[in-house]
Amino acid sequence: MAFKELFTPLKIGVLEVKNRFVVPPMGTNFANPDGTVSEKLIEYLKARARGGWGLITLEIVAVDPRGKAVPNQLGIWDDGFIEGLSKLTSELHRYGATVVLQLHHAGRQTNKAVSGSQPVAPSPLSCPVCREVPRELSPEEIYELVEKFGRAAHRGREANFDAVELHGAHGYLIAQFMSSFSNRRVDEFGGYLFNRLRFPREIIKSIRLQAGADFPVIFRFSADEKMPDGHRLEESKTVARLIEEAGADALHVSMGTYGALQYTVAPSDVPPGYMLSYAEEVKRAVQLPVIAVGRISDPFMAADTVRNKRADLVAWGRQSLTDPETPNKVAAGRLEEIAPCIACNQGCIGNLFDPEKQKATCLVNPFCGRENEMKIIRASTSKKIAVVGGGPAGLMASWIAALRGHDVILYHNEKSPGGQWRIGSLAPAKQDITKAISYYQYMAEKYGVELNFNVEADEELIMSRNPDVVIIATGAKPYKPPIKGIDSPRILMATDVLEGHFQPGDKVLIIGGGLVGCETADFLAQQGYEVTLAEMLEEIASDIQDFVRFFLLKRLREYGVTVEKGIKVEEILDTTVKGVRGEEEIFLGEFDSIILATGATSIRQLQETLKERVPELYTIGDAFSPRKAINAIEEGAWAALKV
Ligand code: SF4
Repeated sequence: MAFKELFTPLKIGVLEVKNRFVVPPMGTNFANPDGTVSEKLIEYLKARARGGWGLITLEIVAVDPRGKAVPNQLGIWDDGFIEGLSKLTSELHRYGATVVLQLHHAGRQTNKAVSGSQPVAPSPLSCPVCREVPRELSPEEIYELVEKFGRAAHRGREANFDAVELHGAHGYLIAQFMSSFSNRRVDEFGGYLFNRLRFPREIIKSIRLQAGADFPVIFRFSADEKMPDGHRLEESKTVARLIEEAGADALHVSMGTYGALQYTVAPSDVPPGYMLSYAEEVKRAVQLPVIAVGRISDPFMAADTVRNKRADLVAWGRQSLTDPETPNKVAAGRLEEIAPCIACNQGCIGNLFDPEKQKATCLVNPFCGRENEMKIIRASTSKKIAVVGGGPAGLMASWIAALRGHDVILYHNEKSPGGQWRIGSLAPAKQDITKAISYYQYMAEKYGVELNFNVEADEELIMSRNPDVVIIATGAKPYKPPIKGIDSPRILMATDVLEGHFQPGDKVLIIGGGLVGCETADFLAQQGYEVTLAEMLEEIASDIQDFVRFFLLKRLREYGVTVEKGIKVEEILDTTVKGVRGEEEIFLGEFDSIILATGATSIRQLQETLKERVPELYTIGDAFSPRKAINAIEEGAWAALKV
């Protein structure tokens, strides 16, 4: 069997895990507001268990309500939680998954509105993100918490979990004790590393006493916290050894804390497998099995990791959201059918922290987290469907509709699919987008979509196929704002520059500091152009997910891109632009080229011409309204489920 390393069982303590595929704990906010297990959470995790994952770890579960980090956090602070958790474990066990309970206390990484009282911590130092000064725990309170972790593990065993994982990573309470970044105590819990590790070591002891000596304990920690005074790798190797000595059965090696979460859930700006060397170093320091994590979504990389003994198990966090069937597909050698995580952080992190959405999903796989609402059911009648536009919305709509048994033809007016998304993939650090485009194209071909590229579909052509349904997914084109001088032939559009249709002069002004403008600045500055970016708002890249934005802005600073904020451009002159900042009139200097990245406008003429002529008509994605790929893909999926 190919990838046999990934399908070899492994022991964690007395426990045998059927393969090396791990779903690590990832926040979804799918639990009920009272902390109990919801049907939504069960359906979401069941899809992963069915997909063949060997070890599935439940996201953060609070051992104390005052230690909650998010409002809808799962709880295990009393026996009332056992029933719901038991239901969850029994559903996942049906598929042979090892199910792990992650025990958690947020410490200072929360706020009063969530925890119900002043957060607690080893020392009264606020976290750089939550910024509420916590109350210092007394030694008595620390031992009470040790007891609570032990009792929670006991309940976990009652609920038929196979193991517990202690959340000692990402700056939560256990990590706060372990790190000089957050622990300034002078008693037996502070100072020397051995003292700072007393809290987790006592917890492991308590779990052994209360849940049984044979109940496996996995310990997750950040091998590099990426903060001043935080752990670095050398200290982390000693942490690993002392935690092993305390009785842990496996280690799970992660990175970062609040304040450095861009390294915990790194976007595509950071290379795949970026934490592997940390797992490898930790593994060398101990005898225990080690779980590696960090932007791993490639079975070859995962197999090499296990084969070369860099780690024993591989956690494919976001990849498990993008394709819950990843292990089954790897086992069957159906690699082209694996939906790829593109490390965009839009659905999993962006939606989770969006006050209006607050639930995780996946940009590439909008079915993630909606397993109950979005079911792919074979259509009772096969319809003839014409999809116009081969961008993300059109591709998604096509292959899902074809999978449901419809007869689908797709027209796209360029030689390659992807539309604006393909152009976006030309910017630095965005090449993973092409994997998703190829995946959608492969699935469309597999399910028999008739793909027509380089074809401008007009009303005549579409109607010649006599469709029952037309889905308009014609996308958007760059918008030219009504500014004096905007039609000058010297003006270039950002998309044309990214595609290499025109070469700008050396000194470039980009008007518009949103996603497209910033990525064009990145693209040109990387090639040695001298770039100025002018933005009307007080911030650039304000429409980009925070972790992605962190790395993008870092590069722009390093390249020396000049950023002019709060400027309203009023006139484009020969070599410069005139604008206003507040009351002040401004000329932005001399430039060889001026590039527009000023938004997009929908292309949907077909909507008017076809609306009286076809029984069912849908307009989706940017053709409906220019937004992000995540909206386009979700709308494509919904349209395909409706027809
Ligand atoms: Fe990966 Fe993006 Fe999906 Fe998150 S939303 S799992 S980063 S593809």
